[in-house]
Amino acid sequence: MKTALEWKQYYSSPEFRNNYIYEGNDLGVSCSEEGTSFKLWSPSAESVTLNLYHEGSGDNLIRRIPMTPEQSGVWSWQTGEELHGIYYDFTLQIEEEEIRSADPYAKACGLNGHRSMAVNLKKTDPDGWDEDRAPEEGAERIIYELHVKEFSWDRSGGFPEKYRGKYMAFTCEDTTLDNDGVHPTGIPYLKELGVTHIQIMPSYDYGSVNEAGADSEFNWGYDPVNYNVPEGSYSTDPAHGEVRIREMKEMIRSLHSQGFGVIMDVVYNHTYSLDSWFQRTAPWYFYRVFDDGRISNGSACGNDVATEREMCTRYILESVLYWTEEYHIDGFRFDLMGLLDVDLMNRIRKELDERYGRGVKLIFGEPWAADETAMENGAVQALKKNMGLLDENVGMFCDNTRDSIKGSALKLKLSGFVNGAEGMENDIIESVGAWCLDYEEDGKYEKFHPKAPSQIISYVSAHDNQTLWDKLDMTVPAADKMRLNRMAAAIYMSCQGMLFFLSGEEFARTKDGEDNSFRSPISLNRLDWRQAWAERELVDYYRGLIALRKQLPGLCDKSAKACERIYSVRKEKGIVQFRVHNQSAEITSRWKELMVIYNSTKEEWACPSGDEEAWEILADGSDSWLWQKNCPAGNPVKVPGQSVLILGMAEEAGETA
Ligand code: CA
Repeated sequence: MKTALEWKQYYSSPEFRNNYIYEGNDLGVSCSEEGTSFKLWSPSAESVTLNLYHEGSGDNLIRRIPMTPEQSGVWSWQTGEELHGIYYDFTLQIEEEEIRSADPYAKACGLNGHRSMAVNLKKTDPDGWDEDRAPEEGAERIIYELHVKEFSWDRSGGFPEKYRGKYMAFTCEDTTLDNDGVHPTGIPYLKELGVTHIQIMPSYDYGSVNEAGADSEFNWGYDPVNYNVPEGSYSTDPAHGEVRIREMKEMIRSLHSQGFGVIMDVVYNHTYSLDSWFQRTAPWYFYRVFDDGRISNGSACGNDVATEREMCTRYILESVLYWTEEYHIDGFRFDLMGLLDVDLMNRIRKELDERYGRGVKLIFGEPWAADETAMENGAVQALKKNMGLLDENVGMFCDNTRDSIKGSALKLKLSGFVNGAEGMENDIIESVGAWCLDYEEDGKYEKFHPKAPSQIISYVSAHDNQTLWDKLDMTVPAADKMRLNRMAAAIYMSCQGMLFFLSGEEFARTKDGEDNSFRSPISLNRLDWRQAWAERELVDYYRGLIALRKQLPGLCDKSAKACERIYSVRKEKGIVQFRVHNQSAEITSRWKELMVIYNSTKEEWACPSGDEEAWEILADGSDSWLWQKNCPAGNPVKVPGQSVLILGMAEEAGETA
């Protein structure tokens, strides 16, 4: 067998590139009443045999069929039979070695994804799937990050036993705390909370959980095996390939019907193992290798997918389109997007825009990598510093906003603005303007220049790193934690950009300080629905902020001109104050102007509001529903220590002034 480097040189040769790029989009299996077609791209195979089986594992071979070589490295076989539910894999001869592989382009698979399955996708559609639509978009998208198993594992959630930890838990529309019939959990809880999009952590087929193992096995799932197949451990029957497909569609249909968009977390930057279907069918084509022969590991997971290579680019693009078309997915969160190339991200954006309308499908990702990567041919990484090269509607998690508000995610004891760090005022006002203003200090950060707030995710917690509550626990006295949690929430929810938070942030979720719980027990990771009700005051504070945010077009504005809405910025030690032009042609709001004050000092801050102006309090440090209660602000305006005050000036008040 050639070495990795020799393969790389071969794939870079004009001979390969002129002869082996397949332009079709029909790789894998197409199966309908009219028949079934199998196509595999394996440019270096000397022969390929298709093996058909009754089941997804075990000794139940039906027959072996030699496949026919076509143009561009494709091998094919077709039949007039509808082979729905038949499992298959391939035996390839590559450089005298015999290799077994499942299908990298598979749309269905058996237990643990070892064998692929032919599927007539129409037969997996739940009732009403043709009518399934994403809900209408509102004034703002507020994204809530959830893991399928974490969502419904805890018995206090009141989910039916057979659906605990499964896709089907998302179809339960009236769950309550311990089935008390009073306190909503699950989907009705999320409706009350007011979030608009549910981001599901990895739910393509991954490798770290044994689908035949105990139900309590847990992993986040950032270890892809079959990119175009749902994960089996979340289905009620992982051994029958059609079940996971139908149940994932049931989940999506239910979320849509309950008013939520669905965002999928996709991990195209690396695979579970280098010994993948990619590698077995096209050795080293899909992976990066340095010119000195070292295997690229910018993911810190053992391998980097070579997204910039034409067949790999096509694979990822088609995979994204498949999830949107077949599963009605509304957006994608790209894991380690910094390992993907700018051209690929822009190409995905363009293809989605052409099909669904400009910016309709959300695209965002982590604009970083864990280490150096061996990207080829002048391709550019989709890193934070390269945001200017990305489409305006490709977004990034803004670690600057996250860390400015509550301190570094990586240096656990380092504080941010709310928990006592000094000199953060510029960073906070930049966070407010989604880093499109001009307060950023030279040399403090790797320079980055978002085109508009549409490129920025404003957030303080995600599945990675400590929960917000645990971060506060490590940096402030116990008595201050709840107040500062509210303050952190009120700050990022009054920043421009897209809003995002980890499930449970709103009820002081803890993982006992664990900052990387990817394979911690489900008992640590599960959402604790009792706590969601024990901390109801905090939940109500989040609910009020979310409901208010949707009425503040000046903050929801995602356009490049949004930064012009922010004015009268005032910065004192520990204080940031600004006003916002809140008028909008598209979204009606009671308030034409906003004034927002963040006071991270321990003392009350008083400032004249201008006596000709009638400001009302919309939210303060403990009540985010004041906008419903007609509360005049008084003059001077007083902001208690360690709190946020949001004021609004009504349309009519301004007119009479
Ligand atoms: Ca799996």
